[in-house]
Amino acid sequence: MNLDKKLDVLHSIFTRLKSCDENGFCNCYTCNDNMTYYISENGHFIIRQNTQFRWSDINTKQQCDYCNVDLQGNVVVFEERLKGQYGIDKIDEMKQMSKVSFKMTKWEKEELLKLRRKQCRELLKSKNFKVTIP
Ligand SMILES: [Zn+2]
Repeated sequence: MNLDKKLDVLHSIFTRLKSCDENGFCNCYTCNDNMTYYISENGHFIIRQNTQFRWSDINTKQQCDYCNVDLQGNVVVFEERLKGQYGIDKIDEMKQMSKVSFKMTKWEKEELLKLRRKQCRELLKSKNFKVTIP
């Protein structure tokens, strides 16, 4: 598995663990549907192809399969919620920045991978369900 894929896996676990209560339930960020950790997905506001925000805490939220896949991110609602949570300026700035080409270095990715692994282990301590951290 290459570094990008490894980061995808760990970042997805991080996003979903963060949003779940101790029994493994969370609400879809865009439609509020209640779901379990196991069926939740890591949804992106700005598409994954843009690596600048591919593993960003702000840009990625727990979503149900319907919003993430069928509605292709449900981006209109996604944007509304993000602006409500972080402020209009912050999200507009992120959209502007996403138009600029950007590449993370291998070192930066390796550091982020270590950080996400640590964060996942930390989050798991307060949960009553099991998740394997790769
Ligand atoms: Zn949903």
